Amino acid sequence: MEAVDPLDISILRDLRDLRVIVIGAGMAGILSVIRLREIGLSDVTVYEKADRLGGTWRENRYPGVACDVPSHLYSYSFAPNPEWTHRFSPGPEIQQYLEAVAAEHDVERDVVYGEEVTDLRWDGARWQLRTASGLTDEADVVIAATGVLHHPSYPAIDGLGDFAGVTMHTARWDEGLSLAGLRVGIIGTGSSAVQTVPTIVDEVASLSLFQRTAQWVMPADNPAYTEDEKAAFRNDPGLLRSLHDEISELFSNGFSNAVVDADSEGMKLIEAACLANLVDSVADPDLRDRLRPDYRAGCKRLVISPNFYEGIQRPNAELVTEAIEGIEPGGVRTADGRLHGLDVLVLATGFRVDRFLRPIDVTGVDGLSLDEAWSQRPSAYLSISTPGFPNLFMLNGPNGPVGNFSLIEVAEVQFGYIAQLLDLLRDGRAGSVCVTSAATAEFEDERTIQAGNTVWATGCNSWYLDDRGVPMAWPWNFQEYRNRLAAPDLEHYLLAD
Ligand code: NAP
Repeated sequence: MEAVDPLDISILRDLRDLRVIVIGAGMAGILSVIRLREIGLSDVTVYEKADRLGGTWRENRYPGVACDVPSHLYSYSFAPNPEWTHRFSPGPEIQQYLEAVAAEHDVERDVVYGEEVTDLRWDGARWQLRTASGLTDEADVVIAATGVLHHPSYPAIDGLGDFAGVTMHTARWDEGLSLAGLRVGIIGTGSSAVQTVPTIVDEVASLSLFQRTAQWVMPADNPAYTEDEKAAFRNDPGLLRSLHDEISELFSNGFSNAVVDADSEGMKLIEAACLANLVDSVADPDLRDRLRPDYRAGCKRLVISPNFYEGIQRPNAELVTEAIEGIEPGGVRTADGRLHGLDVLVLATGFRVDRFLRPIDVTGVDGLSLDEAWSQRPSAYLSISTPGFPNLFMLNGPNGPVGNFSLIEVAEVQFGYIAQLLDLLRDGRAGSVCVTSAATAEFEDERTIQAGNTVWATGCNSWYLDDRGVPMAWPWNFQEYRNRLAAPDLEHYLLAD
């Protein structure tokens, strides 16, 4: 029998109309609907467990929440926004932007809110879905747009439940609570804490920042765009495009080249900028010492802030570096025996980063569950697909470029790749497409070796590290990601009828 060349488009038959289910109506879910329609797939349903779109920007409402990726880069390529108010615009403005883009493209007509997907099962031909309310549905393809930093991580500290005041995680902020005149404690010194501290410090009676590990802080001005600048962006889309491309180039060829090569010149510049920021901004030598990390800048995800050091030096702010011993009804007890009396305890303690589309119970080929497939750790070929789970594609899945990048840009690159796999299904070259175990293992070996060269592997503890201490983020530069995702290598996929 003559072999069929999967790349031969002369065998095109009538295009099959695929049904696609997207899970999650955040940034990547909105992108999926718009792009799927663009490529002619309109039989799409998005299941969203909340009652509003926006994902991370809907959930993170803590004071000072912002994106530390420049707004003109943290925008869809097809929806540049001349109205961004600042270089790094605040979270609520990003939420408004996502809502505006969704409204312009009438995305919500395909979104079902209030339905949490609990089960996904491959029946040999299609995905069968069930939600918490018992709703069932099926589709040829599932796109998991479930986000990365989604499940709050609660610290295992004795007595956490005993606190008599208000306890809240930064991602579960109570917007109805006024902090005016209250004694507030914050546990954690990641990006969320660093944005919260300077925003609330002048309002609260006292602010205690409980630091387990000091952070390097990269300075960054956050100027507002003037009305003239915004008018220029409005009148000249080319100007907006070139600004986007300029910042994208800076990130992909500047920042990403630096972090993936611990010995690079770029890394040295970043380290020097962070050190100068600490030395120039913090006057008291004792405080400066306690704020000085003992690991290399960029090893943990780089924290970027124009005003954290200013905030922590306010007279009513205290940096607490004694270890936390436990939490009591009245506040936080540190190892020196001191009780830090508090009315509000903020847990800026980050997220469980090994979840991805879980806790959805996903069952693939031959009854393989995603929990089994990921029993050691989550992994995915090019961050998009996992062997044994045909026609299931992830946006911002495991081992992709995370950290100080525009996840919108990342998701767009990923979608462009997934769209090419969907073409195989539509034009009849395959009924299902699934990455092979061999391709995934080979990629994983190569990735693990390369991860050792990155600054994330230079000796610190961070959420980038997996259970072995290997950085889980994409270890090459962003251009390499673009190159590898330019077109699928079909030898790495099983194409079934
Ligand atoms: P994070 O970076 O994971 O920081 C968690 C903090 O909590 C760390 O300082 C950690 O200390 C501390 N912590 C955790 N458990 C603790 C315990 N038991 N006792 C004492 N301290 C404890 O979390 P995040 O600040 O929410 O940021 C998570 C990620 O979200 C960021 O890295 C970033 O990717 C994203 N984010 C982005 C922006 C943005 O502007 N784009 C803003 C906010 C968040 P150790 O360092 O000692 O572990």
